[in-house]
Amino acid sequence: MQFKRTDVLVIGSGLSGLFASLVLAERGLKVLIVTKEDIDISNSHFAQGGIATVIDFDQDSFQKHIDDTVTAGDGLNRRDVVDHFVRRGPGIIESLRALGVQFSTRGDGHLDLGCEGGHTERRVVHAGDITGTELISVLKDRVVKDRRITIWQHHTAIDLITTRKFTLSAENRVAGAYVLTQEGVVITVAAGSVLLATGGCGKVYLYTSNPDVATGDGIAIGFRAGVPVANMEMVQFHPTILYHEKMRSVLLSEALRGEGGILKTRDGRTFMEKYHPMKSLAPRDVAARAIDHELKKRGDDFVLLDMTRLDPAFLEHRFPNLLKKCLDAGIDMRHEAIPVVPAAHYLCGGLQCTPDGATCIPGLFVAGEVAHTGLHGANRLASNSLLEAAVMAQGAAEGILARHVVPPDEIAPLPRWNEEGVVDSDEQVIVKQNWDEIRHCMWNYVGIVRSDRRLERALKRILLIRQEITEYYWNFTVTRDLLELRNLALVAELIVRSAIKRKESRGIHYNTDHPHKLSEIRDTELCPGELSD
Ligand SMILES: Cc1cc2nc3c(=O)[nH]c(=O)nc-3n(C[C@H](O)[C@H](O)[C@H](O)COP(=O)(O)OP(=O)(O)OC[C@H]3O[C@@H](n4cnc5c(N)ncnc54)[C@H](O)[C@@H]3O)c2cc1C
Repeated sequence: MQFKRTDVLVIGSGLSGLFASLVLAERGLKVLIVTKEDIDISNSHFAQGGIATVIDFDQDSFQKHIDDTVTAGDGLNRRDVVDHFVRRGPGIIESLRALGVQFSTRGDGHLDLGCEGGHTERRVVHAGDITGTELISVLKDRVVKDRRITIWQHHTAIDLITTRKFTLSAENRVAGAYVLTQEGVVITVAAGSVLLATGGCGKVYLYTSNPDVATGDGIAIGFRAGVPVANMEMVQFHPTILYHEKMRSVLLSEALRGEGGILKTRDGRTFMEKYHPMKSLAPRDVAARAIDHELKKRGDDFVLLDMTRLDPAFLEHRFPNLLKKCLDAGIDMRHEAIPVVPAAHYLCGGLQCTPDGATCIPGLFVAGEVAHTGLHGANRLASNSLLEAAVMAQGAAEGILARHVVPPDEIAPLPRWNEEGVVDSDEQVIVKQNWDEIRHCMWNYVGIVRSDRRLERALKRILLIRQEITEYYWNFTVTRDLLELRNLALVAELIVRSAIKRKESRGIHYNTDHPHKLSEIRDTELCPGELSD
């Protein structure tokens, strides 16, 4: 089978992809979910802390959540967009509970609300410390039982098909996508609407909290199809990833600091008081930069996150999963401090869209981390991304339902994948070499602290790598590794170019040559025509 027709093609099976699929199927549309690995491998699955939303209206308010979001975002947020997401929070929690998601409750039956860095009130709805696992397992169960939803696991979306590419019609709209199977066959999928729910791009950096699927595919796919990106330089580094020789990417949730964890240097001294009035509860950009500064100044490999002043019974109850992971690494957080380092965690920028995920290409919607709505500004407030993913999923589904067109069929066939002249590669080493180079280059030159010289150096290297990959791409049969590498390189270029464009330090973007904020607050935008490929 090399052709498939569906009402809606959903690319990605994280929170946004699964939730949107359920809303669409419930309203009668046929949905095809394409996902790179097993259905439950995604950033969403690994989320620990929870979903930020106002629940306790006696103590908290929408205005306080909005203010905290804008404070963390350093003013780059779009206030109307922040308002949009914050007000939809309580409704989204109810929708998720109605689907069967079990959030943690207190003895009196009310939702248990956690606190995290940057929040001035307790408003993080969570399922113990495995919120993402709970969300994804419930949504997955629903999706696999729904007869209107087809799931293709271990399938990788390559590129979108837009009508501009094969008809003379004046209106450009999305018509489907090319999808690579695990066996190496490329299938042409015709769809009336496409939702890109492909998540972020943590793998562009050497150290990241993200799973291997986070290679920025959706951003690259959308950009190549003609959707501009915004604020790609705003890469959030999580301050506390477990420092361990073998266990990489173990994230130690913000909630640990939220509940009273203290950051210390290796010799046991506190240092956050030098960087922020909220000390260890400072927003994550401040915490990550402070740790980076202390590490470089002292030549240490890690700092410590000390939980030992908290009641061991509370730690066992509140963080059973993290406690176990640390024990697996040989660290008992009840009695000793945990060694931690910062790592790339979340992309605040992404494909430009409305808060409901509509892009400039009719029929093409985006949701979740792949998107740039204006919610996060220059730094995401902890636990606002699951909120964004869920609210966008619902909004995008409504948008698709309202504007949906019938997908093209065999009568007006889409162009098939052209493999003329390509051969199987016997040089896999090129993929591996370029993959490593990009990730080292981004970590060393485009990391937590940047400078004009380092950014220019990074751009030169990334351009050379991209040139090599482009030649390779058109001559050899596509594989998943090659597709990911091509996407990773494009996303790296977008991050570097955006970082060069921003001549100030704001939020998570810190450039030693431009340490101050400009009075004019602007998004950094890049359009597809501005790049060579
Ligand atoms: C360790 C960790 C902890 C976190 N904790 C929190 C938290 O407590 N609260 C919070 O708000 N946020 C948290 N975040 C961030 C949050 O989890 C993500 O931003 C959010 O889950 C993104 O959801 P998504 O649906 O956009 O993408 P994802 O959940 O990342 O899903 C992306 C999906 O797209 C698929 N995919 C990608 N490319 C392709 C392709 N080419 N073809 C087919 N499929 C593709 C992937 O396989 C995956 O299924 C955390 C992130 C991490 C990594």
